[in-house]
Amino acid sequence: MDFVLTEEQKMLQKMTRDFAREEVEPHVKEWEEQGGIPREVFDKMAKLGMLGATAPPEYGGSGMDHVSYHMMTEEIARACSSLRTAISVHISLCQTNIMKFGNEEQKKKYLVPLAKGEKLGAWALTEPNAGTDAANQQTRAKPEGDSYILNGTKMFISNGSVADVVIIFARLPGTERREGICSFILEKGMDGFYPGTVESNTKLGLRASPTAELVMEDCVVPKENLCGSEGQGWEIAMDILNHGRLSVAAGAVGVARASLEESIKFAKEREAFGRPIAKFQMISKMIAEMAMNVDAGRLLVLRAASLMDRGEDPTLAVSMAKLFTAEMAMKAADDAVQIHGGYGYSGEYVVERYFRDAKVCGIYEGTNQVQTLIIAREVLKD
Ligand SMILES: Cc1cc2nc3c(=O)[nH]c(=O)nc-3n(C[C@H](O)[C@H](O)[C@H](O)COP(=O)(O)OP(=O)(O)OC[C@H]3O[C@@H](n4cnc5c(N)ncnc54)[C@H](O)[C@@H]3O)c2cc1C
Repeated sequence: MDFVLTEEQKMLQKMTRDFAREEVEPHVKEWEEQGGIPREVFDKMAKLGMLGATAPPEYGGSGMDHVSYHMMTEEIARACSSLRTAISVHISLCQTNIMKFGNEEQKKKYLVPLAKGEKLGAWALTEPNAGTDAANQQTRAKPEGDSYILNGTKMFISNGSVADVVIIFARLPGTERREGICSFILEKGMDGFYPGTVESNTKLGLRASPTAELVMEDCVVPKENLCGSEGQGWEIAMDILNHGRLSVAAGAVGVARASLEESIKFAKEREAFGRPIAKFQMISKMIAEMAMNVDAGRLLVLRAASLMDRGEDPTLAVSMAKLFTAEMAMKAADDAVQIHGGYGYSGEYVVERYFRDAKVCGIYEGTNQVQTLIIAREVLKD
């Protein structure tokens, strides 16, 4: 894929690959057992400028283009999908929300420490009854004097229990569906704002990523923490989801590539009937398809990232990248387990983690069904 990358992008790719190999991969098992990633890991990434990848330098970021950022995302996901999830939420969702829709004061107060990695971000749209049907927001934001009073519960929020800054979507009284939704910037420790149940190593995959409920009980949020204008929340959420979805797609390429690389290694080493299993055509076919799909997925990610960099509407390209990579990552991880036979099913080999981690790429930030609906809508429109 080198032919599409600049020298600078290749250097960034190498730097992230080295970091992932040395500082991430050896520790993932331990992080999964602990159900979280130590903050020192984020501190190290901050020093390398990774935590403010796309934020402009004047706001403490590295000012990367989206192609560079997603080369980085793939490398992190190649080593650890839980860490990739944390970074995607921190950068693509939380920071981009403030970068694109926040005012100057909000950027100075929140974007700068987030981009520098001094604070960790999260982004909360999903509720118990508002997942795919995100317009069914039940969290309420009642204007009162110089504040809004927030009440409601968010669910399945990545980084939810560890984030310092959280974007919360809530609706104004007397509004329905897409109208009246607002995005707010909340801070850890605000009165009436706290994490509920946290799931990390109890879920199928992403076992080092804390996924939390977030509860707001008469939480007083100052009016200056409204991000964007009143009622702009739906537009904001849909815009930001394009960014989040593309980082999931880049992450899916990373897991699929990891599945491919482990499969190649194992198929060359493992012998049956007196020869390496790579010599059997049914095994080599799985590997050939994996290699082809990883490259195709990456090209779809790079196309969508280039459209973002050029300021064009990336919606169709993003949904194609997300759907294709989510499906192909699941297939690649499945085939990787198959190639490893019984060893693939045991905790001894890393491919069982890829299998567990790949699945969520087709669920969060818009399921495979939702991406299909978006692609159909976009290609069928006049
Ligand atoms: C590990 C993890 C981390 C997450 N992190 C975050 C986060 O940080 N922030 C956040 O806001 N959310 C987060 N989510 C939530 C995630 O985005 C939702 O789970 C997802 O959008 C699906 O919503 P749901 O779970 O309510 O499923 P539902 O919406 O109930 O969907 C159930 C099934 O019905 C299908 N379906 C629904 N509507 C239609 C339709 N119209 N046509 C066809 N099929 C349909 C879906 O595709 C799915 O297969 C996370 C989820 C997980 C599992």
